[in-house]
Amino acid sequence: MRAPDARPDPASAPGPEGLLDDDLLGLAAGAARDAAAAGDAAIGAVVAHRGVVVSTRGEEVVRSGDPTAHAAVLALRDAAAALSSWRLLDCVLAVTLEPCVMCTGAAILARVGRVVIGERDALGGACGSRIDLASDPRLNHAIEVVVLGRRTELGRRSSRRAARP
Ligand SMILES: [Zn+2]
Repeated sequence: MRAPDARPDPASAPGPEGLLDDDLLGLAAGAARDAAAAGDAAIGAVVAHRGVVVSTRGEEVVRSGDPTAHAAVLALRDAAAALSSWRLLDCVLAVTLEPCVMCTGAAILARVGRVVIGERDALGGACGSRIDLASDPRLNHAIEVVVLGRRTELGRRSSRRAARP
């Protein structure tokens, strides 16, 4: 994984709304709380384009019965629709829990420039914890990964295993 502050990153510069990584993660945490209240895993994701939020989604696997309805995938789909483009190169994806293989794969396909993570997922994280797809040189796109290490009050409820025994 690349060092988050090895070089200046234009993608991390605040946009017109001045939203920074921590702001985005705070919004994602709100979506995570809503998801948990609705019976899903407490995981939320936000996509921002040049500092402006274009999508916010929570986990919906349990509610929708769709195994691919992870917060990050849903947020990426909404962002692509909002921007009328599948290429999200100038976007930041902020997720409360480190994206899994599917979500990291989706972010790579969308050419997301940067992923901001609230908590590492030692069991299923694919941005450097369990697997590192985000900077795999065999793939055609690498994503900058920043871990804020922000422990939310969501605690163990953010675990997918806790939500789906
Ligand atoms: Zn996922």
